[in-house]
Amino acid sequence: MAALSKIPYNCYEIGHTWDPSCVHSAFDITRGALEVSFKIYAPLYLIAAVLRRKKKDYYLKRLLPEILWSTSFLTTNGGLYIVFFCIFRKLLGGFYSWSAGFGAALPASYIAILLERKIEICVSRCRSKDGLKGFAFSALKFIVGKEEIPSHSGTAEHISTICKQGPRHRCCKHHQDNCISYCVKGFIRMFSVGYLIQCCLKVPSAFRQMFSKPSRLPSLFYNKENFQLGAFLGSFVSIYKGTSCLLRWLRNIDDELHALIAGFLAGISMFFYKSTTISMYLFSKLVETMYFKGIEAGRFPYFPHADTVLYAVSTAICFQAAVMEVQNLRPSYWKFLLRLTKGRFALMNRQLLDVFGTQASRDFKGFVPKLDPRFTTVLPPGLPQ
Ligand SMILES: [Zn+2]
Ligand SMILES: [Zn+2]
Repeated sequence: MAALSKIPYNCYEIGHTWDPSCVHSAFDITRGALEVSFKIYAPLYLIAAVLRRKKKDYYLKRLLPEILWSTSFLTTNGGLYIVFFCIFRKLLGGFYSWSAGFGAALPASYIAILLERKIEICVSRCRSKDGLKGFAFSALKFIVGKEEIPSHSGTAEHISTICKQGPRHRCCKHHQDNCISYCVKGFIRMFSVGYLIQCCLKVPSAFRQMFSKPSRLPSLFYNKENFQLGAFLGSFVSIYKGTSCLLRWLRNIDDELHALIAGFLAGISMFFYKSTTISMYLFSKLVETMYFKGIEAGRFPYFPHADTVLYAVSTAICFQAAVMEVQNLRPSYWKFLLRLTKGRFALMNRQLLDVFGTQASRDFKGFVPKLDPRFTTVLPPGLPQ
């Protein structure tokens, strides 16, 4: 029954324990999220721009707006979460086990993703020549190669040229290679890309250590993480391409359904790389792209806003876990949330949430925030009445 009951504390006692004012706290979180997400997206877009060999014009006119759009998405998601957290407390007069995490995060993520979609649609309308051409799509095209992006149904021409170098199915669009070398080349190419990206990300810290610890310099090129990102991207591509070729051989046709199956199998490669940000992003975008391709081909029913709702629900589930049972959340996701909120997510008064029976405070070593008794409704235990 405890899971269904209400606890009467206010949002200062449970949530924003660093400041009694709801407005100030929401402002703090929004400002912090803005700063942190800018630091996340700026290098990401810069690397993507270099990889896509963008012209000078892009760096001058488009790079900064694109970074800011993505930044605004994470910022609204974070800022609105705490806004809804406080609104729900005011409406409900307390907290239920679902309202602090899932309840507040659901509308926040929904609005944030709607906003991002609106901007994305505007942007792509301004620049796109042929429909779907966002950052994610070109990233996907870069990774799996243009041969494997399903084209519109019916327009694919199956040129049956005989490949002299080895076995190649007549439906395969990789005309230069046979199926095996096509997959191997894909692996080598993306392995080196992953390896180089990770090296580049390590350069600033290596530079700092160059004078203090010169012996650490070789670790820039030779360490586990470099190989992890390489192995992830490499195996992702080779599984994807290999499955696509294999299915063409087995079924003797080219089918957009293959891309979906291949995408799901390629998701296995995420085990090589435990970065939630990159692998989940890629995977979700892949599924999304395939889903829309499937709709175009008439294979999947179209639900309006299906992806938006899906995103909002999965984010809300993560927030629910982050509030009520951090021990069950992926550590990298929790670290990301801490970083985005500048550590404030850990300041929640989780001992009060223990009544819901999810061991909310288990990993916080008895942490109790120092609250100003003038603003609390129920005095914290241990203080004189
Ligand atoms: Zn509040
Ligand atoms: Zn092939």
